[in-house]
Amino acid sequence: MTYHAPLADISCALKYGTALVPALEEGFLGDLTMDDIEAVLTEAGRVASEILEPTNRAGDQYGTTFKDGAVTTAPGWKEAYHAWCEGGWNALSGPPEWGGQGLPQIVNAACTEMWNSASMAFGVGTLLTMGAIDMLNVHGSDELKRLYLEKLVSGAWTGTMLLTEPHAGSDVGALRTRAERAGDGTYRITGQKIFITYGEHDLTDNIVHFALARLADAPPGTRGISLFLVPKVIVNADGSLGARNDVRAHSVEHKLGMHGSPTCTMILGDQGGATGFLIGQENAGMACMFTMMNRARLAVGLQGVGIAERATQQALAYARERKQGRTLGMPATESAPIILHPGIKRTLLSMQALTQAARTICYTTALAIDRAERGGDKAARHAAHARASLLTPVAKAFSTDIGVEVGWLGVQVHGGMGYIEETGAAQYLRDACLGAIYEGTNGIQAIDLVTRKLPFDGGAVVETYLGELRRIVDAVNATNDPALGWSGVRLEEAVESLTRATHWMLARLAEDTDAALAGATPYLRLFGITTGGCLLAQQALAALRDGTDAGPRLALARFFAENISVEAGALERTVVEGAAGVACAETMLAQ
Ligand SMILES: Cc1cc2nc3c(=O)[nH]c(=O)nc-3n(C[C@H](O)[C@H](O)[C@H](O)COP(=O)(O)OP(=O)(O)OC[C@H]3O[C@@H](n4cnc5c(N)ncnc54)[C@H](O)[C@@H]3O)c2cc1C
Repeated sequence: MTYHAPLADISCALKYGTALVPALEEGFLGDLTMDDIEAVLTEAGRVASEILEPTNRAGDQYGTTFKDGAVTTAPGWKEAYHAWCEGGWNALSGPPEWGGQGLPQIVNAACTEMWNSASMAFGVGTLLTMGAIDMLNVHGSDELKRLYLEKLVSGAWTGTMLLTEPHAGSDVGALRTRAERAGDGTYRITGQKIFITYGEHDLTDNIVHFALARLADAPPGTRGISLFLVPKVIVNADGSLGARNDVRAHSVEHKLGMHGSPTCTMILGDQGGATGFLIGQENAGMACMFTMMNRARLAVGLQGVGIAERATQQALAYARERKQGRTLGMPATESAPIILHPGIKRTLLSMQALTQAARTICYTTALAIDRAERGGDKAARHAAHARASLLTPVAKAFSTDIGVEVGWLGVQVHGGMGYIEETGAAQYLRDACLGAIYEGTNGIQAIDLVTRKLPFDGGAVVETYLGELRRIVDAVNATNDPALGWSGVRLEEAVESLTRATHWMLARLAEDTDAALAGATPYLRLFGITTGGCLLAQQALAALRDGTDAGPRLALARFFAENISVEAGALERTVVEGAAGVACAETMLAQ
């Protein structure tokens, strides 16, 4: 089924779900207007449907082939990649001094969602390059920027992230790839990396790897990791391509989904050492890599939104067409489209509501990043940075969980046809699963939220955030619009649950870390559904105020509050009371 960019939903999330309109008025996003943004998004939607969408099935069916160290992408991929780059889409948020358009992350976020809706396996390569650009621009030396940034921004070369090793996945600090000083300012890198997305491909004539490695005299753990730029082909001082570097793909993986995206085992230095160029300081590589990872985490969250949107569109179309059973009073000779059955209605509305909630959380995070980078005074930028840091694990994990959940609901709506590959519903589910695993598993995101983000400024950052959610609830209650049903009450209960669970978490972190860690994943879900419910209500209220077509916004917000936010109470109990049960039952896991 063809992808239709959901421009009305995207626009509503941007305008009413996030604080984009006041941000535009404040002026820290330059002279950009909402009309400009909508024009960019309309064109991006067209490109996603017409240029990227055709790569989706081809990528899934043909996958990638590996022969003599070279990877060939599926038919049509090269052409699509070049057309997309020529349209300037890779450069959308890139730094203007290196050929980028300098548009805010929030605009790029909406486009990222569309690229990944159209073809997630295509989108993942581009999001890594964009993360690499941001990282290199912040932490790279002037010489590295001069040689690499323009090509990365245009898309002439792509970027990768080389972290994972066979014994170092979530525990990056355990990595063993070695770096030695070569004596001329460069380094020799030796080791093996696994699961490297777009580690090798035929889309461009150079690939710029960003590899974590350890010097012999480095301290153990993450404090002893350095970051290196390791090009596939060495770049000469004049920018031309020189000799092939000592880094190669050894194989590509066969995967559950994302067949179009090559996932490579990479060998560095089996000819004496790959030439690497240090980024930042020795032993301070994790901090630099976090710039890339945080950007990529938000983008992976947007993959979750993108795939949920796609699964929803497909399910809606199928449910309108497929006839089974009858509605009340229908003659026995007729049958009804399944969309008329109340259970299917609920499923489809859940898909729509969860998708719009995750979308708005991701866009809100993107705007916080923009404010942190471009906002008014130092204090405002600091506060925005803290907000972006708090929300990034939620944007990543909640949204990719939604991708899987909505993908699965989409399969269910199709019945048996959902399990059969030809409808495409199964592919969305298979592809969606990866979002919950890479860029740090969702379990690791939950731990990051609880152990690193909640304690920011002694809990003040999350407290301020909870205060904002409360103000949205107050506004819902003050509106007293019957179209919102029980929304105010349900959202108030959810925010109270999140507040109590947050206080419990903060206390447990000091007293009983295991209890806090045991509750981290349900806590993140609680954070996500509470935030999502409030942001949908905010969209509904703003639509009401604006006098725009508020009906569908009110209905969706109400549906979410009355059907999904109500999980909050159970999740609070799982977090707060369930930890004891985990401790008590863990003997069952003993061998
Ligand atoms: C298709 C694909 C593409 C990828 N692309 C890249 C890439 O481009 N670059 C790259 O560097 N990596 C990449 N990865 C690797 C990916 O980031 C890792 O798979 C992921 O971080 C998890 O590491 P792991 O597989 O070793 O799992 P493990 O770390 O072994 O984790 C297994 C399980 O244990 C849990 N767990 C681990 N540690 C803890 C803990 N301390 N507390 C609680 N739970 C824990 C995890 O959440 C997970 O559920 C890719 C992976 C895949 C499958």
